Amino acid sequence: MIKRLACLAAAVLAVPTFAADLTDAVRNDYDAYLADLFDHFHRNPELSTVEFKTAKRMADELRAAGFDVTENVGGTGVVAMLENGAGPLVMMRADMDGLPVEEKSGLEYASRATQTDPITGNTVFTMHACGHDVHITSMVGTARQMAARRDEWNGTLMLVVQPAEERVLGARAMKDDNIWDRFGKPDYALAFHVSSSDVAGVINVSEGSPYAGADTVDIIIHGVGAHGASPHRGKDPIVLGSQIVLALQTLVSRELSPREPGVVTVGSFHSGTKHNIISDAAHLQLTVRNTNEETRAILLSGIKRIAENMGRVAGLPEDKLPEVIVSEESVPPTKNNGELARRLKVAWADALGDDAVVDIPTKGMGAEDFPFFTDDPAIPSVYWAIGGTPQEDFAAELAGGPPVPSHHSPLFKISPAPAVRSGVESTVVALLALLQE
Ligand SMILES: [Zn+2]
Ligand SMILES: [Zn+2]
Repeated sequence: MIKRLACLAAAVLAVPTFAADLTDAVRNDYDAYLADLFDHFHRNPELSTVEFKTAKRMADELRAAGFDVTENVGGTGVVAMLENGAGPLVMMRADMDGLPVEEKSGLEYASRATQTDPITGNTVFTMHACGHDVHITSMVGTARQMAARRDEWNGTLMLVVQPAEERVLGARAMKDDNIWDRFGKPDYALAFHVSSSDVAGVINVSEGSPYAGADTVDIIIHGVGAHGASPHRGKDPIVLGSQIVLALQTLVSRELSPREPGVVTVGSFHSGTKHNIISDAAHLQLTVRNTNEETRAILLSGIKRIAENMGRVAGLPEDKLPEVIVSEESVPPTKNNGELARRLKVAWADALGDDAVVDIPTKGMGAEDFPFFTDDPAIPSVYWAIGGTPQEDFAAELAGGPPVPSHHSPLFKISPAPAVRSGVESTVVALLALLQE
């Protein structure tokens, strides 16, 4: 009986007692250190693939926290390792790029930085208009907590600072630079995104697919040019293109199950030069979104079928049918491992309270390049959101006030204190739950 009591006591002691201590420690570190670091990152955003100063600062910060740091992985990527005995290898990723947007948030610490855009060669304003400054600041906070808490975990922690998420290039570049061969293949992979559509500080996690898969499709329509007054002499690619655009709308509405999400957006339609000329070509540019391979196949094959057959309807010969080109730059959907998501939900609720965790499905079909880390080979992963907007801003919008700005908007803003603190706390709790023998 005494022995059993002793066991029970040990079991009670083994339950993490870090919750209150963690919240205080993160709050103190935010006030003393991370707030200034966020301010620095927010004022100094850098564009995708040219995040040189950001990467250097991250490498310095993670080295100072006691990690073994390797720079220039897949371009400007940084990998920081902390070994702490036998146990699992867990990877946490933070993306670090900003966007070519001129900040108009009105914040005192708004960015006025400029940079040469590597795509256009033009000098452009840069802004952390997606909140990646929250991700990297939180990663430094996580590194500092995990290094200070080595007696609370076992295994190896891999922190991945990823470039060029906005151009969905960085994760693939780090994979192609043999990240797993060089640093080890993780047993689990984690990431979060700050979200302006969630209440500041809340952890929003689903067991499904937080981000969609995306394909880029071009349709080249061949017509026969003619005088605008003699349409019978030509094949009008604008009329045919318009029919294709409308017919494509039936894919999601008539061919997918009504409970299955999908998007076919024609974002660009170019043809013609002048009022009275029937052009000989038109060009459509599409983005196509899915949350699984089956939907992707239905949408992509449907686009080809509709485009080609509308060409036949218009009487085009077989060698002049519309061409459908699917870009190789396809992004798979981000899919959470259900069992792992449930495990982390329990860990977060235990450590931070039931109210800290919600499961509000996303309404959009945004895409992410994180699955390049987790799909091949498959690594169980969870991607969650951290809220970044104060409750009173949502209330003001509901009352007819200014709408909460979306990501990538010049007005975008995040409340850094609750977002960064929750970013650190949720990551540390997840890591401590997984990094056990
Ligand atoms: Zn973004
Ligand atoms: Zn983003």
